[in-house]
Amino acid sequence: MNLKDKIASIPDFPKKGIMFRDITPILADPQAMNYTTEQIADFAKKVNADLIVAPEARGFFFGTPAAMEANIGFAPVRKPGKLPRETISATYELEYGSDELQMHADAIHKGQRVLIVDDLLATGGTVEAIQKLVEQQGAKVVGFAFVIELDDLKGRDRFKDIPVFSLTHYK
Ligand code: 5GP
Repeated sequence: MNLKDKIASIPDFPKKGIMFRDITPILADPQAMNYTTEQIADFAKKVNADLIVAPEARGFFFGTPAAMEANIGFAPVRKPGKLPRETISATYELEYGSDELQMHADAIHKGQRVLIVDDLLATGGTVEAIQKLVEQQGAKVVGFAFVIELDDLKGRDRFKDIPVFSLTHYK
């Protein structure tokens, strides 16, 4: 499966100078979706994860089916104000300003082995904030999995001791 055939590249989105990598053709193709799900689930098994955690919205597309395939649980990460019960929060830096992510306080248990999944690794700021949420709860991040990694941004350098798995690479 050449997954790159199912990733569209859109110049100047969402702003001039950005090449946006669009994963929606993967969702439209059950073979591509199966392949992606299996690859992430195999990695989850390899690192012996017992929970997948992923951020809205595109992380959900891949994190949830991979958790089902690996026969482990899934917990969502959301923007503030979306989760109905008690939450924990972590902030992270953006190019201009900062942003916040939340999880339900009881979504992760002490000692759990967590795989963080997202569609794309750029600077790594998003998944690093999720790592903070996981560690706040006394659990351990045992891996990161992405459909796309933007190599030039060197996001993986933030996580020297934790395995990072990406199905495709772009500059
Ligand atoms: P980071 O925090 O690693 O700098 O950025 C990663 C986040 O930005 C991911 O949650 C991802 O969904 C989003 N993102 C940034 N650029 C792109 C892109 O070109 N395509 C897609 N699909 N997501 C992007």
